[in-house]
Amino acid sequence: MKCRKCGAKAAINMRQHKLALCKQHYLEWIPTQTQRFIEEHHMFSPEDRILVAVSGGKDSLALWDILTRLGYQADGLYIGLGIDSGFGYSDKSLHFCQKYAEDHRLSLIVVDVKDAYGSTIPQLNEKTPRGKDKPCAVCGLSKRNIMNRVARDGDYDVLVTGHNLDDEAAVLFGNTLNWLGSYLLRQGPVLEADHPGLVRKAKPLFRFYERETTAYALLRGIEYIYDECPHAEGAKSIYYKEVLNQLERNRPGTKLIFYLNFLKAKEGGLFAEQAPETDPLNTCLTCGQPTSSPEQCAFCRLVERSTP
Ligand code: SF4
Ligand SMILES: [Zn+2]
Ligand SMILES: [Zn+2]
Repeated sequence: MKCRKCGAKAAINMRQHKLALCKQHYLEWIPTQTQRFIEEHHMFSPEDRILVAVSGGKDSLALWDILTRLGYQADGLYIGLGIDSGFGYSDKSLHFCQKYAEDHRLSLIVVDVKDAYGSTIPQLNEKTPRGKDKPCAVCGLSKRNIMNRVARDGDYDVLVTGHNLDDEAAVLFGNTLNWLGSYLLRQGPVLEADHPGLVRKAKPLFRFYERETTAYALLRGIEYIYDECPHAEGAKSIYYKEVLNQLERNRPGTKLIFYLNFLKAKEGGLFAEQAPETDPLNTCLTCGQPTSSPEQCAFCRLVERSTP
């Protein structure tokens, strides 16, 4: 297989685009495409201050790398979850984020959940009624609250995450299987800040397949943590990804079409009537973020419950 641009040996063949590229042209193609997606979806501009949520994995570090190469002002945010599981998952992932930041002279903000709130994510989870289950619900709630707080307090214009097409298609698949109208309405590459305590969010890699972001990270020589979070095993999202991969194998481009046609359908108002009427959001008295509760948001209540 040869590179379509120069005829050299191809490093990657993207069947869904009918496009094969060598290393050099692939490493140029990815940022060019990302810039196109950023502009098409009005994600942010070169004047904006961007906060990139980095986990130490390939997608978020690739995103930080691409944005920096494109000339954006992007700082990193790492959240230390305190997940060890016998191999120091959180410590290892912090190491890769710090290494990337040091090697590229970038600024990395680190929030260690235990230092900041007195308990690790697994410890916070133990205090909930479903404390024996996986800590993913507590983890997601905590990450959303902390990411938004750091972005808001640091006056960042936008918070970006490294979600790729496989992630987005899997979430869409789950939301569609259950016809979750309000979730479908909110899913997209940009989430506007519809409350004074919220920062807008964007996902610049949403159109790249996971194998494309992996290839980018490897070809750029980015060092990242290969291990998944130990709690990810058995997650529904992984099962959905496998199902979508099967469809993709038979019909290359299925995931992309599924997701892009969803965005078109949404623009056309397809899900608008499915969204239930919701009451206006209140402001959490502790952290100032939006909540449906009259006083404290779910995260602040969780932290308070865990504080001795
Ligand atoms: S898999 Fe790990 S990082 Fe992801 S939500 Fe669950 S606990 Fe958090
Ligand atoms: Zn080439
Ligand atoms: Zn709160």
